[in-house]
Amino acid sequence: MSKIIASSAIRGAYKVFDRVSKKYEEALQKFGPDKKVELPNTGYYLPVIYGLLGHPVKTLGDMKPVLEKCKSLLPPHVEDKIWVPYLGHTLDAGAATLFLFEIEEALKYLEDPIPYFVAEDCDEDHLWLGAADDIILRKRGVEFVDGTAPGFAAIVGQAPDVETAVKLARQLIDKQLYVFMAGGKFAEQLKQGGMQLGWSTRLVPFGEPVSAHIFSLGFATRAALAFGGIKPGDYKNILLYNKNRVFAFVLALDEVDEERYAAAAGAINYGFPAIAHTNIPQILPTGICTYEHVVSNVPLDEIVDRAVEVRGLKVTVTKIDIPVSYGPAYEGERIKKENMRVELGGPKSFGFEFCQMKDMDEVKDGHFEVIGPDLDEIPEGATVPIAIWVEVAGRKMQEDFEPILERQFHHLLNQAEGVLHIGQRDIIWMRITKKAFDSGFRLKHLGTILHAKLHNDFGNILDKIQVKIYTDPEKVKELLEVARKTYRKREERMAGMTDESVDVFYSCTLCQSFAPTHVCVVTPERPGLCGAYNWLDCRAAYEINPTGPNQPIAKADEIDPLKGQWGTVNQFVYEKSGNAIERFNAYSIMEDPMTSCGCFEAITVVLPMTQGFMVVDRDYNGMTPCGMAFSTLAGQVGGGAQTPGFVGMSRQYVLSKKFLLAEGGLKRLVWMPKALKEFLKEGLEKRAQELGLEDFYNKIADETVATTEEELMEFLQKVNHPVLSMEPLF
Ligand code: SF4
Ligand code: ZN
Repeated sequence: MSKIIASSAIRGAYKVFDRVSKKYEEALQKFGPDKKVELPNTGYYLPVIYGLLGHPVKTLGDMKPVLEKCKSLLPPHVEDKIWVPYLGHTLDAGAATLFLFEIEEALKYLEDPIPYFVAEDCDEDHLWLGAADDIILRKRGVEFVDGTAPGFAAIVGQAPDVETAVKLARQLIDKQLYVFMAGGKFAEQLKQGGMQLGWSTRLVPFGEPVSAHIFSLGFATRAALAFGGIKPGDYKNILLYNKNRVFAFVLALDEVDEERYAAAAGAINYGFPAIAHTNIPQILPTGICTYEHVVSNVPLDEIVDRAVEVRGLKVTVTKIDIPVSYGPAYEGERIKKENMRVELGGPKSFGFEFCQMKDMDEVKDGHFEVIGPDLDEIPEGATVPIAIWVEVAGRKMQEDFEPILERQFHHLLNQAEGVLHIGQRDIIWMRITKKAFDSGFRLKHLGTILHAKLHNDFGNILDKIQVKIYTDPEKVKELLEVARKTYRKREERMAGMTDESVDVFYSCTLCQSFAPTHVCVVTPERPGLCGAYNWLDCRAAYEINPTGPNQPIAKADEIDPLKGQWGTVNQFVYEKSGNAIERFNAYSIMEDPMTSCGCFEAITVVLPMTQGFMVVDRDYNGMTPCGMAFSTLAGQVGGGAQTPGFVGMSRQYVLSKKFLLAEGGLKRLVWMPKALKEFLKEGLEKRAQELGLEDFYNKIADETVATTEEELMEFLQKVNHPVLSMEPLF
């Protein structure tokens, strides 16, 4: 805190004190001490004074001790004296200013006519509403409790023009906030801009002078008394309730004079920070407010975002603004070719999704962009590439959380009616129906969905989300490489960790929404079968949401280290699969293998004739030596069942030292699609070397040499594949 602020707030408070004392004396002269003073229809007297001091003001005479209290709160003028690095004086001056404002405003209700329009909403001729009565409090205050309205923005001053004012108001309302107005012409600007004002539209003009903002704080105080069950006079808890429960802040749009500064200091007591457009001294150390107290020099087009961030407001978007229905009911929806307007990514094209953490000032919350043709410009029935690129920022965000957020896209997008999403990372495949298109669904709505849902589900770590959708093939290709580097980096973080080195594994039950008995047990050496969640990711996900789908499983009661079976894991899986799965071997394909949901990157199949394993991934749509293409196989393996001889898994698991260890591991690998083989080349060669398998990479067949088991057998004999000297599996 700087000396300037302390002095200007304190000077402001003195000015208010002099003015109000004078007005009070005049009123006293005119009406006498027994004159009743009250705000319209309320049981809370002058609520700020009643709440914080526990003193009910019923008459003019009752105001006297409050004025004395204010006087005692006013600190000595500190300018030219020793500056204390302590906010206390400023806060006291602020509190005094609030009591004085309340007296000043209450005196107006003695005037005839009352300068305020006692009603819920404004009309053509009346703009200023003054104090809200208890009916409004009950109706509106409850929204602050149940979360339909997270809080309010107290606007001071005015925007440079009507258009900007309307824009700011819209931004605030979009965040479900109430807009309380006093001390400037902002309300008049909104009226000129054609907006309806009043409690019904959440745009509440209290009064022209800044003192009328006492009605904002009066409302907040009454909310604490009424809904927080706090006793009058328990100022500590009233202020705490507001700090923790009511997300409010002051937006100072133009000049901040001493009086406004004193008022802002009052608001800081409630934990409500001030965000100013102009260059006023900042108060940055945190303590009373959730974050900073006064932040200045914020451009108007950023001020709402900044305020929300400074106040620590978690944006929740209750309605997802898209032209189709949305909900879990649509998650399992399949889209046939004849109903589809467009196909994005998938085996006939390419695509990926990616979540990246950015700095706070690099992300504009709610910004969506489509780069490349949108649905209107893509011919019906066509297939185009897609990249879903999501940038997020948050004070609690960490790079480790990126994959967790990214893995949500699948079920979040799938819940839109007429949108199909399969896969993750760089193997995504989407379809959008003609019906959704005809209802107005466009690619930017993918952004709308992700923005709304990620805010709601991950509000504890995220503050800002922006989404870019690319369909321009060149761009998608270029960014795919960037994403792939990160995918690799995420995998490398796991390198070196072993299952033996940890004492907990993590579960993932995210896929139970469509495979109710499926549980992924994620260990350092066996990632989730979608390839998008490794052990570190699950650990991070658990940290973000301790009651979510990723739970720690203590690794104990070892039953078989070679097969990868533990008593505690069995117990966990049994419970989490709804008693459907009794046992689970993490490293076996023949005996109690892990369940497969449907999003596996690849499937491993035992080939009886060769006694080897073939691995086929989602990107390969040709025939395989087991007689089935990937799609047919996937239909047989998925759904949350254990299918001995078949197992869904991530591509990376092939390279794990624990890859189907029970049956002899990598040595049995006999066939893979060429592209997958190349994709894993480096790792395969490294693992082969570790196992002392000579020239192993070239001994793995692919579709160029074999698509039947007979052809495969011939090839294996020709290259003398090590499987030939292994013990038969059955
Ligand atoms: Fe989680 Fe497994 Fe589904 Fe991946 S496949 S999201 S790890 S349950
Ligand atoms: Zn799954």
